[in-house]
Amino acid sequence: MALIVQKYGGTSVADAEAIKNVARRIIARRNKGDQMVVVVSAMGDTTDDLIKLAHQVSEKPGERELDALLSTGELVASTLVAMAIRSLGSEAISLSGAQAGIRTDANHSRARILEIDPSRMRRELEEGKIVIVAGFQGITDGLDITTLGRGGSDTTAVALAASLKAKACEKYTDVEGIYTADPRLVPEARQLRDISYEEMLEIAAYGSKVVHPRAVELAGEFDVPILVASSFAGNPGTLIHREVSMEVRNRVRSIAHDLDVAKIMVVGVPDRPGIAASIFEPLAKAGISVDTIVQNASINKITDLTFTVARSELDKAMKVVEPIAKSIGARECVSDAKLGKVSVIGTGMQNSPGYAARMFSTLSERGINIQLITTSEIRITCIIEESQVGNAVRALHQTFQLDAES
Ligand code: ASP
Ligand code: MG
Repeated sequence: MALIVQKYGGTSVADAEAIKNVARRIIARRNKGDQMVVVVSAMGDTTDDLIKLAHQVSEKPGERELDALLSTGELVASTLVAMAIRSLGSEAISLSGAQAGIRTDANHSRARILEIDPSRMRRELEEGKIVIVAGFQGITDGLDITTLGRGGSDTTAVALAASLKAKACEKYTDVEGIYTADPRLVPEARQLRDISYEEMLEIAAYGSKVVHPRAVELAGEFDVPILVASSFAGNPGTLIHREVSMEVRNRVRSIAHDLDVAKIMVVGVPDRPGIAASIFEPLAKAGISVDTIVQNASINKITDLTFTVARSELDKAMKVVEPIAKSIGARECVSDAKLGKVSVIGTGMQNSPGYAARMFSTLSERGINIQLITTSEIRITCIIEESQVGNAVRALHQTFQLDAES
């Protein structure tokens, strides 16, 4: 008998009907003979609603209370799924993150899993029960409840799969798998049969919200293959794993995009040691994550420093950076909130020249101006005007022939 970890996202458990549907799917899978641990997210928009509520009663809700509050979303979903399964005649038990043995550090709202003690889960499984675990949460050594950051239930599922040495980790959501591009932007986008951890990590980090980047990273580290599929359709989904079939190795696999990009430029900065640290340390302290950073070569010891942040963090970031810019003698500090990112991703690009040139010429033929460029071994990203992102993605999808069956 093998062990399967499944994960159901918020839309898959959004209401009573959806929960009953999930319960039936879980039982059908269990009846094939494998043991099952199922991780669930909070129902629908519960987490957002709880955050709003917290801010209605307090300007500063406090991280500890907020984590305890948010963890209840997943508790609601996990208990309801367990009840639905039992009402259909199968054995099930719900466990909170703490009960499932998930020990984390004390960084509230972005805790990291330190260790999992699977003994309680094992005991319940051996008694023949389906174990439903509340995702997105854990507990500190001091017995405080923590959460793993937005979208953290994916991380719970992969971590449990690694700890329990599961045969598979199946993630069920409202999309059918991973695509060559977002099908809402590119109607001819194709669903991928499989993709490597590396590629998926870039896709997740550069725009797709389908699997949380941290979960992909963890999956790669422990070699836990993740199947991404829809909980509503019978489509076989996309397998994220180590090996990708030979014939697709030589290609671009996916065009990712992100519309949530803002840029800050600190112009006319004196070029001397410590300047970058003086800007980025306070940003990090304020909890603002900075993405692309570009520093120009200096002329006469004066340079420009440009970086991007999520649009929702622009105001906060400007409040941090403006006084620093002034104090280090920068000429000015300007921002642009309406940018987007488009990325070409594929392990096939490694060591083969020409991909960047094809990307840039495709964009220039469409009259799209590139503002910043960044690359990794398997990704090329251009930051462009937000309004041109759709066009860019469609054009690149065509250039790299992603609509053609491989
Ligand atoms: N409910 C949490 C969130 O909305 C965690 C998750 O869905 O994975 O971020
Ligand atoms: Mg959610």
